[in-house]
Amino acid sequence: AAKGSGRGRFRFFSGDLLQAATDRRRLEDDLRDALAKGEIDLLYQPIVNARTNCVTGVEALMRWTHPVHGPISPALFIPIAEEADLIQQLGAWVIRRACEDAVRWPGALRVAVNVSPMQFTNEDLPKIVLSALAASGLPPARLELELTEGVFLSESPETDGMFSVLKDIGVRLALDDFGTGYSSLGYLKTAPFDKIKIDQSFVRGVTAPGSRNGAIIAAIVALADALGMETTAEGIESFDQLALIRDLRVSHVQGYIYSKAIASGEIAARLESGDWAIAPSGPARQRSE
Ligand code: C2E
Ligand code: MG
Ligand code: MG
Ligand code: MG
Repeated sequence: AAKGSGRGRFRFFSGDLLQAATDRRRLEDDLRDALAKGEIDLLYQPIVNARTNCVTGVEALMRWTHPVHGPISPALFIPIAEEADLIQQLGAWVIRRACEDAVRWPGALRVAVNVSPMQFTNEDLPKIVLSALAASGLPPARLELELTEGVFLSESPETDGMFSVLKDIGVRLALDDFGTGYSSLGYLKTAPFDKIKIDQSFVRGVTAPGSRNGAIIAAIVALADALGMETTAEGIESFDQLALIRDLRVSHVQGYIYSKAIASGEIAARLESGDWAIAPSGPARQRSE
């Protein structure tokens, strides 16, 4: 027990552990009201065709600006939202908001939305997607759902059912953070993914001498090609990385080298100004015109 005598009294419960648990509880409470208080925002990061250099879509990324602590990373608050049962509410908001924003952009840009495994196992997901599409008027093919390998942890008949219902709706499916989970290849036999997103841990260090990352990326690309799936390399920060990734024939690229995630209005402005060429169905505008 933590009870003792003298200075060491609190040693078992003091320090980071207690602090972390308390912080987490407080954050959880704050997160409960964050959406209603307008502290949650949705930003968008461009995804670029590696061959044509055209922006083909964007990924929606949630941002939480805490009134006291400032910006809190989704890597921190998404797991809290999942544990506190807030992910359904936040996730539905993201899908709705992303569809509303996407119809306002010029061209036929796709919008990719991260969907947590807990949302994927929610039988209401198809309804949520359908109503977001109907309310916004966004064509289903312009919405892409990014799923992680986590959706296969609870593999059940319902998992297969959810895949086919979503495909019937006509949305695209991407397998996010590929290579970081337990990466059983078995599910690629049947899961109807349109795209594999190669995790940024493979891009980081890819240019280092003796790195095996390039070989792994090449293997993922070969696999995706054979299965008729696109690939996106995440987290490209340098021209060296970009050149190498292009040589490896990854079809799409995403990273700070192009842009970090920016507001919906900025996406529209860049497209309108011709800063970004639009692909595939929009006219490819030249900067010089
Ligand atoms: P993710 O889906 O793999 O998203 C890509 C992450 O990589 C984003 O981090 C993005 O900002 C970051 N990134 C992009 N380019 C670069 C780069 O060049 N260098 C580096 N170092 N990082 C780059 P972010 O926005 O912090 O999101 C982290 C994770 O949180 C996401 O990973 C996703 O798993 C989750 N997340 C974010 N928004 C949502 C959401 O709306 N719903 C759900 N369920 N999860 C979300
Ligand atoms: Mg993602
Ligand atoms: Mg990812
Ligand atoms: Mg990630």
